[in-house]
Amino acid sequence: MSSRLRCLRNNDRVAIVGSGPAGSFFAIHLLREARRLDLHLDVIIIEKRGPANLGFDDFQCKGCNFCAGLLSPRLNEILDECGLVLPEEVIQGRIDYVWIHGQWKNLRLRVPNDKQMYSVFRGSLPGRRTGRPAGFDGFLLGEAVKEGARIQYGEVQAIAYAASRMPELTLKTLSGEMVQLDASFVGIATGINAHCGLDYGANGLIASVKRLNPSFVPGKTRKALIFELDVGEEFLERNMNREIHFIEYGSKHLALEHTALIPKGRFLTVALIGKCIDEAVLPRDSRQIIRDFLTLPQIDSILPGVAAAPLACACTPRMTVATAAFPFGDRFAIIGDAVGSRLNKDGLYSAHVTASRLAQAVLHEGIDKQSLARGYGKTIKWLVADNRFGRIVYAVSRVAFSLPLLSRIVYQAFATEYKMRDEPSRPLSVVLWKIASGTADYREVFREMCSYDVLRSVIAGAAITFRNVAFEMFSGVQWGEYGRYPTVVLKEKREALKEQLASGLGMELDKSPDFERMYWIKIRGSEEEIMEELAKFGQPNARFLKLRIVDMQHIQGTPNQVGSVIRYRVPFVRLHAELRLTNRVRFETLHYKADEGLVDLGKLIFNVAPTTDGNRRLSIYASFDYKKGTGFASRMMWRGARFLFPEFMHDVVWNHALCTIKEDVERKHHRSW
Ligand SMILES: Cc1cc2nc3c(=O)[nH]c(=O)nc-3n(C[C@H](O)[C@H](O)[C@H](O)COP(=O)(O)OP(=O)(O)OC[C@H]3O[C@@H](n4cnc5c(N)ncnc54)[C@H](O)[C@@H]3O)c2cc1C
Repeated sequence: MSSRLRCLRNNDRVAIVGSGPAGSFFAIHLLREARRLDLHLDVIIIEKRGPANLGFDDFQCKGCNFCAGLLSPRLNEILDECGLVLPEEVIQGRIDYVWIHGQWKNLRLRVPNDKQMYSVFRGSLPGRRTGRPAGFDGFLLGEAVKEGARIQYGEVQAIAYAASRMPELTLKTLSGEMVQLDASFVGIATGINAHCGLDYGANGLIASVKRLNPSFVPGKTRKALIFELDVGEEFLERNMNREIHFIEYGSKHLALEHTALIPKGRFLTVALIGKCIDEAVLPRDSRQIIRDFLTLPQIDSILPGVAAAPLACACTPRMTVATAAFPFGDRFAIIGDAVGSRLNKDGLYSAHVTASRLAQAVLHEGIDKQSLARGYGKTIKWLVADNRFGRIVYAVSRVAFSLPLLSRIVYQAFATEYKMRDEPSRPLSVVLWKIASGTADYREVFREMCSYDVLRSVIAGAAITFRNVAFEMFSGVQWGEYGRYPTVVLKEKREALKEQLASGLGMELDKSPDFERMYWIKIRGSEEEIMEELAKFGQPNARFLKLRIVDMQHIQGTPNQVGSVIRYRVPFVRLHAELRLTNRVRFETLHYKADEGLVDLGKLIFNVAPTTDGNRRLSIYASFDYKKGTGFASRMMWRGARFLFPEFMHDVVWNHALCTIKEDVERKHHRSW
């Protein structure tokens, strides 16, 4: 065949196999660019799954396209740029926070205000959906039709060159009829799950592509497990309101690498990859994995009682892990997942990249193999190179989040940035956001990961971690079975919290005391339950603030009532002080004042406030001035005391106390999905 084929010309026919995102994006970009060039193209999209026929949406196909359905900020920007406005009924969830769960603790990243992250259903499943079952793929296909594409339902079984040297498709229509269709150019956008779970390289169409271009090597894939639970909107609002969760570890018996929990309307989509899924063979193995997964402690702590929720659907599709080689030839090219996508993230964005670049190449570079290698080949090289960096990025982050000590260091580095630095200068948080959201190429993420700023944050995190671990051992703080939750109050939120506490108490809080710390934690429990737990402060049955170095005892009055007194005693230096509850505002606030034994103007405030998702937030505010002493000897003594009780002690102790209070309240709180 001629090695110099022209670009597409007026009235050429382009056949696109597959109406997933890659196929529809290709049609949209091709038709728009052709119109700009004053060309008319006959674009036919061939889809093997028939229309859903639900009477709602003409372009919704039956079944689904096996995807967690998270639209990354990067993809949303592209949709905006292309003027593709998602209808409200397609958006199943708007995401404000991304959680990353490591072995030690969880990190919460806020989706920047100028970015959008949505969850969508790709098709018409799960079957339990009611109302208009709008899906993302149906929307995109509708947009392609608006641009002028036609749809033909049927399965393309093979591609070959006809005598005219045009590619010819063998198509089995929905009625079972075999039809031949020739075209000037064919875009193959079949994805890798035409037969869910099977190796796509073995499918008939892909085998016929190999006959057209013997150098073509299909990409590598691995098995994933995806299922949907019908948990109800109220449950999701209470437990993961506008949040998605990525969990980076499983358990000894459930070897998982990466899990995504994504809320969609009243459903929760769960997508998993890991060794246990690679090794699962039978459907009952997958069912067992689902059961084991839902009862993991880290899952139960995010979604209490979720193991009892009804399963709406489950499947084991394949995911791309390595890009195909030479996925093009004279008059045809492969796009979307069938060629490859960015590792573990943002496959829909990758589908857009390959589709839009191919549209440009066939209209500006040519449709022969060499021209495609020149124009479209660059995109394949970008994918291959980026995934090389992606593999390193994921290897590092897997190790960092799945080993408890490293996970603790990463958390500490992250928390320290949030506590000490202003919003624009948190380099580790930026890198974590880029990994979690897929908003940057892996090459860029890798470069930033190795940057001086990120390494400095991690080294600081490591130093603080070792210091805290040493203090925990010395003071007898034991984590035991308690979950670890972030308690850091962002630097930019501290003033607002202080004002809220002060106005609740109807008093002023000192502007700049020598020592001031704030912590908070979200608790699934009522004000009464949290106050009940706080009433154990200084009691023998309290599980928080049990320290070897400070003995705390409730010595006077009724717990949580004004006049109640807690005594702090430091046994080995015989120092003591008393905290007196001087003000209580309903089930909201407890205000303790310290006597002048150890510090001046000491305050300890507990505050319980409702959160927007129907839960509560327990905040702690502690402040005091150091005693200065008058004579030389007493000045030295108080300086020594300051050295003996460094400020970070409060961070360690209150962090542990808050996590303990949360666990104990939630354990008692009624648990149901
Ligand atoms: C478990 C899992 C979770 C994922 N989660 C996300 C996520 O949250 N966000 C994200 O961006 N990406 C995610 N992805 C990746 C994403 O699903 C893919 O990147 C995306 O679907 C690729 O689009 P595509 O058009 O290439 O292929 P597909 O979406 O698979 O579409 C291919 C289409 O071609 C049709 N077809 C196949 N063979 C033929 C044939 N012979 N004839 C006619 N029609 C045919 C199919 O019916 C289908 O409609 C996930 C993938 C997996 C496996």
